[in-house]
Amino acid sequence: MPRANFARPSSRRRRDRPGGPPVGELYRLLLGHFGPQGWWPAESPFEVLLGAILTQSVTWRNAARAVQAVRAEADLTEEGVRGLGEEKLAALIRPSRFFRQKSRRIFAVLGELDRVSGGSLDRLVARDSATARRHLLAVPGIGEETADAILAYAGGHALFVVDAYTRRILVRCGVPWPSDDSLRRRVRAELETAQALQEFHALLTRLGHRICRPAPLCPVCPLLAVCPTGQAGTLTGKGVGPRGRDPEEGTEGEGERPEEEETEDQVGPTEGGSGTRAGTRRETSPTRLGRAHGGRLRESGRHHGKAQEEEDVTA
Ligand code: SF4
Repeated sequence: MPRANFARPSSRRRRDRPGGPPVGELYRLLLGHFGPQGWWPAESPFEVLLGAILTQSVTWRNAARAVQAVRAEADLTEEGVRGLGEEKLAALIRPSRFFRQKSRRIFAVLGELDRVSGGSLDRLVARDSATARRHLLAVPGIGEETADAILAYAGGHALFVVDAYTRRILVRCGVPWPSDDSLRRRVRAELETAQALQEFHALLTRLGHRICRPAPLCPVCPLLAVCPTGQAGTLTGKGVGPRGRDPEEGTEGEGERPEEEETEDQVGPTEGGSGTRAGTRRETSPTRLGRAHGGRLRESGRHHGKAQEEEDVTA
């Protein structure tokens, strides 16, 4: 007689158990502090797609420079970019680094659009989320973060983008992170509209970029009242002076920026941009970050191949 397996359902229930502050409370606090972020900074769905790929592993400022370079040469449409050809596109997007790889990636997406939606991104994003996501994920180099960003911001899908900032902040706030899927489910259950999901991701990026950095600036954080890590004071921010000065204030021209701080125009849709540098993109692992909650935070992950980096940088 087959033995009943009770382990899986119970562990699943344990994994999905809510924990930490309500996501809606985090959202309200961030929105009240920062205001609406107005993402995605693009004029068309295809520009969102381009930006989402170009910002992989680099700051938004570099990605935006690459987008501008393409815009100067072609319409930011499927046809316009296709007309450039892969090599010319690679030369134009050089500011985004990994430009050959990214150009191949963009043309691979165009190939997938040809195959499944008559070459049109609009037609792809008009499909249901699961189908459109599956097609994007079929393209080499398009991961869940990029696919979800494209679908959320180019297609208005009710998807939540999980990236390094998201994991870091939510885990520090006490939200369990057994997997990215678990985070997505949790946030989607508590923030129901596509607009709130998009805004929440943008707000988390702003917080992760400016305040909840690897060495966080907890005394000036809008989430301090609900964040056990911030209240425990176990992660000391190097950028906080004796008066706990808010890094959002007076950074213009005052020359007193927290370490690695970038100017405001660099805060934007980022992938791998949470304190990572081109060529050394890190992706956090649930196990390691979970272990770090309430204590030291360590992030680990895979690196882009050095050979690829050298190829692109020296090309
Ligand atoms: S209180 Fe500190 S650890 Fe918590 S979210 Fe804010 S900056 Fe991050």
